[in-house]
Amino acid sequence: MPTIRRYRQTKIVATLGPASGSPEMMRKLFEAGVDVFRMNFSHGTHEAHRKNLETARAMEAEYGRPIAVIADLQGPKNRIGKFKNDKIDIKAGHRIRFDLDTALGDETRVCLPHPEVIAVMKPGSEILLDDGKVRVTIREQGKDYLLGEVVSGSKLSNHKGFNVPGVIIPVPALTDKDRVDLDAALAMGADWVAQSFVQRPEDVSETRKIIGGRAALMAKIEKPSAVERMDEILNYVDGIMLARGDLGVEIPPEDVPATQKKIVRMVRHAGKPIIVATQMLESMIDNPRPTRAEASDVATAVYDGADAVMLSAETAAGQYPVEAVEIMDKICTRVEQDETYRRILNTNQAESENDPSSAITKAAYHVARDIKAACICNYTTSGSTTLRTARERPDIPILCLTQNMSTARRLMLSYGVRALHITDVNSFAETVERATKLVKEKGYAASGERIVLTAGVPFGTPGSTNVLRVAWVE
Ligand code: PGA
Ligand code: MN
Repeated sequence: MPTIRRYRQTKIVATLGPASGSPEMMRKLFEAGVDVFRMNFSHGTHEAHRKNLETARAMEAEYGRPIAVIADLQGPKNRIGKFKNDKIDIKAGHRIRFDLDTALGDETRVCLPHPEVIAVMKPGSEILLDDGKVRVTIREQGKDYLLGEVVSGSKLSNHKGFNVPGVIIPVPALTDKDRVDLDAALAMGADWVAQSFVQRPEDVSETRKIIGGRAALMAKIEKPSAVERMDEILNYVDGIMLARGDLGVEIPPEDVPATQKKIVRMVRHAGKPIIVATQMLESMIDNPRPTRAEASDVATAVYDGADAVMLSAETAAGQYPVEAVEIMDKICTRVEQDETYRRILNTNQAESENDPSSAITKAAYHVARDIKAACICNYTTSGSTTLRTARERPDIPILCLTQNMSTARRLMLSYGVRALHITDVNSFAETVERATKLVKEKGYAASGERIVLTAGVPFGTPGSTNVLRVAWVE
């Protein structure tokens, strides 16, 4: 069995697509550093996603390491219709009408097949098309049309996406397509579901009900309304993805860095994983080396304390998917060695919640630091103890020992976590014995080193962590 060791705590998520959706490429990406695969349901067939998920499962067995797979639902992404000549030229001052007519558009009008958007726009509202490359101000709103004036931009082509910043669109967060995709993703056994364009807490609470514990749920933060209601949204989800692609169109670019810092901090403090996503190494779609600015962007997400950083088109459709993962791995590793990084993380610690599990986990982290333990082992069923340990951002591996395979997989997204699926343990003494053997076997500690272990006694009551033990590795 090939052994995979990672010397980095920050996780790497890679999106699968035409450039990477084969067993050979998935193995290469994994060996280069990928911890979590993302299936993008905006593209690709269910059949292709299912094959990739099966490959991930086969790799788990081969490499002896759980792999998390995220099913990312498209959500209510808005798009315009098509043009007679596939595209039109425009410039500032150009007038264009948006209506519901599905006929092919031209220089004067185009189909905007979203009556709910037309209904909420007002004179003065803005529509940003093609990731903000085209900016249109609405001058007139009719019952089933909008008249707009182009403020900037030079062309528009078929099916371009558009955003209406700051406007809450009264649509359900799950489209009909999302419901079908969600069913398929759950049937395949995806570990995480990512919900796009979440606007309100109700959007995620409904999805959570549908999922019914079959997968973990992550909200993608790409609307200003979701940023405003983060606290409430966080109550209903197991993790967050900061989806800077759409978010950076919905809010001004200069607001993105501060929003990133705020959200990473909030989600970390809530003890849930946070992924910073999109355009991280964008130029590597066509180039084997990133720009210095991109290297800095990945580094910033790590300094901010993110659990994971993500690659999108770089691995899904780019020419250099493996190189992108390799460089991301190097950047994360390098930042984690920086003393400033440790200082930043340590000054941002969450408060204890005054309950035994929380207190024990915090104590475990401090004991491990003081005695220079090789790793922290949590014996956990639900994974909640390990989430708390990850929140402390230790600089040593966190071993999540669990009998629950889905816990093991989900937790692979979290900072520093190495999950190990173990079979029945019946007593605390057995846990200690098992853990000390396992860490040595897997190379997380050598003979003579110490480990810190937490568990809940008696076994089998989730959330009952009440024991902290220091053990020697023989
Ligand atoms: P998408 O989400 O790739 O599904 O659009 C990510 C983002 O908007 O950043
Ligand atoms: Mn998006």
